[in-house]
Amino acid sequence: FSRQRLLVVANRLPVSAVRRGEESWSLEISAGGLVSALLGVKEFEARWIGWAGVNVPDVRGQEALTKALAEKRCIPVFLDEDIVHQYYNGYCNNILWPLFHYLGLPQEDRLATTRSFQSQFAAYIKANQMFADVVNQHYKEGDVVWCHDYHLMFLPKCLKEYNSEMKVGWFLHTPFPSSEIHRTLPSRSDLLRAVLAADLVGFHTYDYARHFVSACTRILGYEGTPEGVENQGRLTRVAAFPIGIDSDRFIRALEVPQVQDHIRELKDTFAGRKVMLGVDRLDMIKGIPQKILAFEKFLEENPDWRDKVVLLQIAVPTRTDVPEYQKLTSQVHEIVGRINGRFGTLTTVPIHHLDRSLDFHALCALYAVTALVTSLRDGMNLVSYEFVACQDSKKGVLILSEFAGAAQSLGAGAVLVNPWNITEVAASIGRALNMSPEEREKRHRHNFAHVTTHTAQEWAETFVSELNDTVVEAQLRI
Ligand code: UDP
Repeated sequence: FSRQRLLVVANRLPVSAVRRGEESWSLEISAGGLVSALLGVKEFEARWIGWAGVNVPDVRGQEALTKALAEKRCIPVFLDEDIVHQYYNGYCNNILWPLFHYLGLPQEDRLATTRSFQSQFAAYIKANQMFADVVNQHYKEGDVVWCHDYHLMFLPKCLKEYNSEMKVGWFLHTPFPSSEIHRTLPSRSDLLRAVLAADLVGFHTYDYARHFVSACTRILGYEGTPEGVENQGRLTRVAAFPIGIDSDRFIRALEVPQVQDHIRELKDTFAGRKVMLGVDRLDMIKGIPQKILAFEKFLEENPDWRDKVVLLQIAVPTRTDVPEYQKLTSQVHEIVGRINGRFGTLTTVPIHHLDRSLDFHALCALYAVTALVTSLRDGMNLVSYEFVACQDSKKGVLILSEFAGAAQSLGAGAVLVNPWNITEVAASIGRALNMSPEEREKRHRHNFAHVTTHTAQEWAETFVSELNDTVVEAQLRI
């Protein structure tokens, strides 16, 4: 009995590589949504294919890194600096990311954007082709190839051109926007057609899947069916596969002495005060300024709470070389400074804002409070799932944006908010802080049951078995 081989292709390998010498590399598993999800999958013999996040111009360095990565079942795709700049910083992060999160196409200097668009798109296709080359070198008959995310929308097409028999799935970890938004993208049709080359296309929610099917029917004129998208007798299956987390990993972590020490420390530090927690990458989509302003409004309207509540915001730095992200950082610092100046005392401040990431154990300890997630748009938002998994004894309240994919699954247990409505979020903070233990218990039970049964393992198994089935059904149809 041998397990089916799964080639997981994503822009970034789940490791960060640091060069120690000409032929020596040190590797560390790195954090992130997809990585957390696939860590728990044990059903397949999985290999990762992706970029290691470093520029390695020399062959000796490339060979040494390839060898080191092989021990972690990782296979590198080498991208040079120019490609990374145009494909990754340019097309992926500056065009697709904001568009898919409803922030629109870049507005500043429209003409320059329009002009650089073509070369960035060309780099995007070239990079996708480089990923396809590596997949093709390592592919063996019977393997399943699972392509991930908006960085690799051209990959299904490139792979099928190499080998039309390859089983290819593609999954999007962000929202897929309304077809009216997708329509504004100059490369709208090429991207859709390239994705449709896959056998199975997956999204976090039914809404995203429906938006994708509408884009294909309205922009390409293809037929949308309950199964997916059909064109000249060929069906691309489209479905929703909401991701989960490895909930046991979080539940087990709570038993670790180091985590319990952390929790005790936090309790001492914030004794007599309730703690509200935000954990986000410092990204426009996470609505951090909106959250902080809502917290200010809450303090303004509830003087009794001012010395009894603290907002702990972990803002993980991300894309720090992009000007818009730098602007967001200073904007957030300014608001936090103003509010702490306004409501702080000689010994305490209402907002603790940290520009840093935390290790797994510190994060688990923090999750033992009340959480505040105000994403303006978010594919799923795993932080809300992880928070629920760490809450079994405390039963803290989850305040959750209705624009996060997680609102579709945790909606009944969370307090849902429109993050743009600061009055509503402020009122929800009050509601969460004053909620009766019975109601907290009831809401928590609902969410905990969901998070512990809809796990990352289950997500990956469902996607891959659906992909296998889809290919069999397609063969029967011919
Ligand atoms: N995370 C982490 N260290 C931190 C903060 C967050 O490893 O200091 C992890 C967190 O556990 C979660 C992921 O980063 O698994 C964030 O995933 P999410 O879906 O919430 O948002 P994304 O950053 O992917 O947009």
